[in-house]
This record gives sequence, structure tokens and C-alpha cells, in this order.
Amino acid sequence: MNEPIQFFSTNLKAGNLRFHEALLKGQAPDKGLYLPVTIPRIPAEEILDFGRKEYWEIAYFVTRYFLNGEISDEELSAIARDSYNYEVPLEHVFGHKYVMRLDRGPTASFKDFAARMMARLMHYYLKTGNRHLLILTATSGDTGSAVANAFYGMDNINIVVLFPKDEVTDRQRKQMTTLGKNVKVLALDAKFDDCQALVKQAFADPSLDHLGLSSANSINIGRLIPQTVYYFYAYAKLASPGEQIIFSVPSGNFGDMMGGMLALKMGLPVKRFIIATNHNDEFPKYLISGEYSKIEPSRNCISSAMNVGHPSNLARLVALYGGTMDEKGIIHRAADMERMRTELWGISISDAETRTTIDEAWKHWKLLLEPHGSVGWTGLMRYIVEQDNKLLKDQLCVSLETAHPAKFPDEIKTITGFDPELPQSLQGIDNKPEFFADLPNNYSDFKSWLNTNFK
Ligand SMILES: *Cc1c(COP(=O)(O)O)cnc(C)c1O
Repeated sequence: MNEPIQFFSTNLKAGNLRFHEALLKGQAPDKGLYLPVTIPRIPAEEILDFGRKEYWEIAYFVTRYFLNGEISDEELSAIARDSYNYEVPLEHVFGHKYVMRLDRGPTASFKDFAARMMARLMHYYLKTGNRHLLILTATSGDTGSAVANAFYGMDNINIVVLFPKDEVTDRQRKQMTTLGKNVKVLALDAKFDDCQALVKQAFADPSLDHLGLSSANSINIGRLIPQTVYYFYAYAKLASPGEQIIFSVPSGNFGDMMGGMLALKMGLPVKRFIIATNHNDEFPKYLISGEYSKIEPSRNCISSAMNVGHPSNLARLVALYGGTMDEKGIIHRAADMERMRTELWGISISDAETRTTIDEAWKHWKLLLEPHGSVGWTGLMRYIVEQDNKLLKDQLCVSLETAHPAKFPDEIKTITGFDPELPQSLQGIDNKPEFFADLPNNYSDFKSWLNTNFK
């Protein structure tokens, strides 16, 4: 019963590992993604009892089901408390409909939830093994700042963030470049895909082995497990005994929705997940047809963090339904689509609808959404209209807001006519000094930069 949980690779060609090994490895050697062999169940009474606890305590109790035997209760509870020292508002909209704001962390995006706990767990295991890591991460915006912020100041981890110089907003850049200490930032004269390619090449380069390279991208199991917690939190705070809940999740790489799926498999009474994508509609199409084809190149939409033409976590979802999909998106064994359709509903939302919703939500309910959260909320409204109007009345529904509106001031201002107020975490950032190096888009320059800066 108290044996630590094992983790398997979705490509089924790598050995099973324990949590701390999967965490420090990131991707499995067969290029698959790690998932728990057995998914622990949380008794219904315990879930309801979470309603009386604070967010960080729920995080401790939920993640402990996965990390039992891997870390002491004292360490885990200290990590949970330190990771979640900010609010998680459940904003009432109308009837039994809510928006959960996952935007109050230090970088004002929901990626803080995963990055902060993963970073602290990595720090803990490295300290125990007296090891050091150098984390390389490529970002097109939010991931870089959340990850850099999460690892900031840790003594056994250095972090290098690569970003495409012309593709991030000033505010996104400043969230990375104003940190300093163990966070080094490289501005590349390149596209996001080029940054990613440089990072991958470095990982595959044996002459860099001495640097102890690791990744912190969205496929790390250490980012997934913390993302189960806010689903339990929302349910426990809002539901009555026996009630079911509907979540709407604005989705790109599907890390967020996989957190929800794990919560469902752990026993959370979820009636349906609405998976709302932008114009990158490969998933809604797959859900209907059972045939998967990725979108290359991905389509540019105003919900930019969701411009994903092949969600990296899709292989995990397919695995949960008994199928196999490799890293290229090829399905080797079909998933149980019938069951998937009863638990998930997919919808693609256009930029025009995304903007209309921001406008109407503000006018009707004083609900301030940014483009990603608007995709989620629009998905929820479409589900109710297209599937069952009766859900409008009593059904408990929660739509996720994944970024703070102040991260998209231009879009919001054009639509609503006002500038959203900066959250405290972003105040003052415009005037802080920035530190970063410019690099050309080529591997030998990147490699010699790494060798000069880290010995
Ligand atoms: C990353 C991100 C998403 C998409 O989350 P996934 O886990 O990749 O599906 C949505 N909204 C914002 C603001 C994000 O930063």
C-alpha cells in the first residue's frame, strides 16, 4: 500500500521509475512522457473536507498521494506552503457559474502553479544528492518567466532562458531579464522554434555532459502533478455533497487539462471537461473523428500561449484511454474514443468570438477576461447552448482564467476602453534594469557561450 508509485513512459520502451527520477529526467529516454502506473484514489469525504482547508494544505494532501515515500511529510508541507503563498480567487459570475483566477502568482500566469512546486521539489532532491543542474529552457513568453521566477535564487540550480527577440512583449521580457542572480537570459535573433532546436541540440550533445543539463518544460511530470490541485480546490470550495462539476479549460499543450484528467481519475466528481482551443483545432477534430493530424505550422491567434499545433501532452491523454501515441503524433493503438467523448467535449473558438466575449462579459457581469480565459468562458457558454440549455440553471461550472488581464493591456484596452490595473507582482517592473545577452541563431555560438559561462 505504501510502496512509492512507479512512473512509466507513454512510448512503453523505457523502464519504470520513481517520482524523483522522472522529475530530474524530464523526458523519458524513449522520448515518451512519464505517467503514474497506478493513479491513487482520494475518498469522497476527504475531497469534501478540503473545503475547510487553505490552498497550500490541499496541495500538500493531494500531491502527497503521488509522492508518498518519496519525501517526508514535513518537507512536502513546507514546499507546498512556500509554493502557494498567493490567492486563488473563485469569482462568481451568475447562477452556479464561476471563473477561477489562476493569475495571482508572481508572474501572473497559471504556469506559476506548476513551476513553483516543480522547482522546489527539484531543489530538494538535488540537495539530498549533493548535485547541481543547469536548466535550459526556450520560451515564447509565459513559460520562461514562470520557470525563471520559480528557480530564482536556488543555490544548486542555474537557469538559462532563450527567447526569440522579436516575439515576446516588453512586459514578458522584463519578467525574465530583471531577475539576475542564477537566471541568465539570451535574446536570440530567431524564431521560437529555433530557440527550442538549440536547446534540444545541447541536450543531445555529449561534449556538454559535464554541465549537468536538464529541462523544465511542460512535459515534466513534476509540473503535471501540482496542476491537479486547483481542480480539487474549486470543487471542494463550491460543491455540495454528491454534486458534479463541469470545468472549462483553455488549452494549448494540454498540461492544464491533464491535471484535470488526473484529478478525475483520482475520484473528483467531474461531469465533463470542456477543452477550449483557439483556431488550432486539431484536438476538437480528433475527438470527433478519432483521426489525428497536427497543424504545421501552428496558427497565430490572440491567445498566443495556446498557439500549439501538436499538444505535447496529448500522448498522455491517449494513454489514459488505453491508446498509444508517439512523440510525433502517430497513433499506434487507438484510444477508447467512446469513453473519451463522454468525459471530454472539445471546441475551437475564433479570435473574433474571443474578443466579443471579452466585451460582453465585461458589459453583462463586470467579468474581466483576457484572451486565454475568454476562450475558456466562450467554450463553456457554447457547450451549454449546444448541448443542454438546462445546464444554465443549476449546474455547477467553473471556467479557468490562466493569465492576468494586465498582461494583455493593448487587447483589453481596445475592447473595453480601459487599461487593466497591474497586479502587485508586476508593479515597478517597467523601470527595473535588465540583464541579457544577444546571440545569433547558431549552435556553435550558443555552445561556446555555455562553456564560457558555466564550467
Ligand atoms: C500556457 C498557457 C495556456 C495553455 O496551457 P496548456 O497547459 O499548455 O494547455 C493557457 N493560457 C496561458 C495564459 C498560458 O500561459
